[in-house]
Amino acid sequence: MKVLVINCGSSSLKYQLIDSVTEQVLAKGLCERIGIDGRLTHKPTGKNPVQISVDMPNHTTAVGLVLKELTDEANGVISSLEEIGAVGHRVVHGGEKFAASVVITPEVIADIEACNDLAPLHNPANLIGINACAQLMPHVPMVAVFDTAFHQTMPEKAYLYGLPYEYYEKYSVRRYGFHGTSHSYVSKRTAQILGKDPKDLKVIVCHLGNGSSICAVDGGKSVDTSMGLTPLEGVPMGTRSGGIDPAIVEFIANKEDLTLEQTMNVLNKKSGVQGISGVSSDFRDLQAGADQGNKRCALARDVFAYSVAKYVGAYAAVMNGVDVISFTAGVGENDPDIRKKVCSYLGYLGLWLDEEKNCVRGKEEIISTAQSKTLAMVVPTNEELAIARETVALL
Ligand code: ADP
Repeated sequence: MKVLVINCGSSSLKYQLIDSVTEQVLAKGLCERIGIDGRLTHKPTGKNPVQISVDMPNHTTAVGLVLKELTDEANGVISSLEEIGAVGHRVVHGGEKFAASVVITPEVIADIEACNDLAPLHNPANLIGINACAQLMPHVPMVAVFDTAFHQTMPEKAYLYGLPYEYYEKYSVRRYGFHGTSHSYVSKRTAQILGKDPKDLKVIVCHLGNGSSICAVDGGKSVDTSMGLTPLEGVPMGTRSGGIDPAIVEFIANKEDLTLEQTMNVLNKKSGVQGISGVSSDFRDLQAGADQGNKRCALARDVFAYSVAKYVGAYAAVMNGVDVISFTAGVGENDPDIRKKVCSYLGYLGLWLDEEKNCVRGKEEIISTAQSKTLAMVVPTNEELAIARETVALL
């Protein structure tokens, strides 16, 4: 079956068409600036990529253009839409309602809508993508795969905040965690590479990208994770602050004369390594800056790695041990220096980095020495493939 994987944002739409038998990507691409002007980048495998500037007033037009490119005589990879057997949608927030992927029905759409409050920037966009596909491909079954679902196995003691319990009861305020598709995929793949059953492993997955989260996976199940009610909690990220003293919000709002909304905007968009360095949210720029002697670029990278190491320590503690630390996503897969910095704190776990193997970028590799008691690995994530697999499994 050919599965179209859709990841819809407020003004963008990423897609991949995946052959579920060979697991090959047939085409992938991105619609940007939806509702503004519109740009489509379409990359058919084995053919030249195309970039088209085209009017995209809404997501339905964007999906229509994607379907047109997929079936286009010159740039296409399928001869008709009949070949698309299913659509898998990434949905950011499934609240407590969704502990697994589901086939999309009108009831499911209503239940996703009910979670909009918890992810006001993401879920409405995901729903727009679902509705656009339903409109243009009414007979093709669709599946929703949630970023939060994998973490629904967390015990109460891990997901409850130290707040009045009624906020959990009335407003569902608790830790949900994100990047679940990635944490699930990487932890399973880690076990597979080692020839082990996930049930027999304690893995800490470090998903380090523009957004970063750490997850403790015990026996194949998420038992704790660093992101919370929203993706703002955890380690400092590209532009997000990560965990801070909550009193800072009021303090800065008063000092800088900012509204609550403006202060939250600072925490989401102007903080993290961007905020510390004052240079960039991109770890490559920070490395370049540090290499040229920019102390704040170096400091931003140090703060980040230190924070990741603290979560690793915390999760090793709550799982009473850890077998493998797996690094994934943009930074985790491609930045040997950040991995080295994180692992420099983990000697007490009997983890020693093999400096040569640690030079790897974007490839599966065990990067700890043969003598290490705890392994470190690079395991590239593949959220689209995981969504395609889930979609096929459900149908
Ligand atoms: P997102 O959270 O947007 O999915 P990614 O997982 O794609 O993010 O990670 C993006 C980040 O990965 C970039 O900000 C960049 O800092 C980092 N990155 C990507 N490639 C490299 C590289 N070759 N070396 C160092 N860092 C990289």
